[in-house]
Amino acid sequence: MKILLAGGAGYIGSHTAVELLNAGLEVVIVDNYCNSSPVAVKRVEEITGKKVESFEADIKDKAKILDIMKQTKPDCVIHFAGLKAVGESVKLPITYYRNNIDTTITLLECMAETGVKSFVFSSSATVYGEENDIPYVETMRRGSCSNPYGWTKYMMEQILEDAAKADDKLSVVLLRYFNPIGAHESGKIGEDPQGIPNNLMPYIAQVAVGRRDHLTIFGNDYNTKDGTCRRDYIHVMDLANGHLKAVEYAAGNKGVSVFNLGTGQPYSVLEIVNAFEKANGIEIKYEFGPRRDGDLPEFWANADKAEKILNWKTTKTLEDMCRDTWNWQKNNPKGYETE
Ligand code: NAD
Ligand code: UDP
Repeated sequence: MKILLAGGAGYIGSHTAVELLNAGLEVVIVDNYCNSSPVAVKRVEEITGKKVESFEADIKDKAKILDIMKQTKPDCVIHFAGLKAVGESVKLPITYYRNNIDTTITLLECMAETGVKSFVFSSSATVYGEENDIPYVETMRRGSCSNPYGWTKYMMEQILEDAAKADDKLSVVLLRYFNPIGAHESGKIGEDPQGIPNNLMPYIAQVAVGRRDHLTIFGNDYNTKDGTCRRDYIHVMDLANGHLKAVEYAAGNKGVSVFNLGTGQPYSVLEIVNAFEKANGIEIKYEFGPRRDGDLPEFWANADKAEKILNWKTTKTLEDMCRDTWNWQKNNPKGYETE
């Protein structure tokens, strides 16, 4: 089976490429490198010892994508190619709507024209919005999102549902990720944010490597056990394995299926800092700052459905996540720029 990874040079895409290649599948990566580097593709080849077909292209460029799909003939498309910075999406909403929605529609059009019937989509826990109870279950209605990034995910899910309703041969798997962290155990690929990291784990890793002086913890007055927010952190290789299961599932089923990919176990910001320090023997300087706009106090996944239907279960511990993050960061202090 051959899988086209739109945005496959990015953080989750590159780890998924390794997982798919190791399972014997063929991989095509299409990326415009707006938030990644071609070095990641080379590293995927180094880790797996396998060749990856890769193309530099904007997924919004229909003529080019159609050409690539005709040439490579994939059986399934995984769509990672989104812009994902919440704060930036508030400042540049149109850029976010254009990129995220246009890429989705372009892929659907090219699939229709080339007869590709399986689509796996990178969605997010953000679609549960602010009004649902925790833990989140797939049957809950989508909530109202607090920023344009979240709304793009909400709208793309809707577009994909409508597309599947209109074509009974189409199979769409919506994967709602919780908080992916960690890196491949080789330390050759990992998360490489541009500029100041927005997310917790890359920020901690950059403090550890000396690129940032200290971490600011956004709020310690939440109604949680230690006052800091709690999230469901998932090792990126467990997440990658969820994509392998989703691709296999999409090949044998039709219609829309939705799966949470999380561990079901929340940790607070302070627990993450302490776990990183313990796993790696490094002190992380931090101070408490004000709450960040739009942050929910806590949420985590009910991941029973993925276990039951996809036969998927996380295997990595928080210690693994902290150790593998540091292994990547210490070997690549400036990310892929090191090379
Ligand atoms: P990433 O930025 O590392 O990867 C996205 C990749 O898509 C990058 O390589 C980027 O260059 C590429 N890309 C973006 N727009 C493109 C376009 N128009 N044409 C071609 N390539 C394009 O992000 P990631 O963390 O790997 O996330 C992958 C997907 O998962 C995104 O859709 C994101 O919204 C979603 N997601 C991520 C998280 C997370 O915490 N990382 C959580 C939930 C959902
Ligand atoms: N966080 C923090 N300091 C940072 C980055 C994040 O305290 O520099 C907190 C943030 O408030 C949230 C948690 O860490 O409670 C996870 O944030 P992240 O941005 O990684 O993921 P989110 O759940 O917001 O998508």
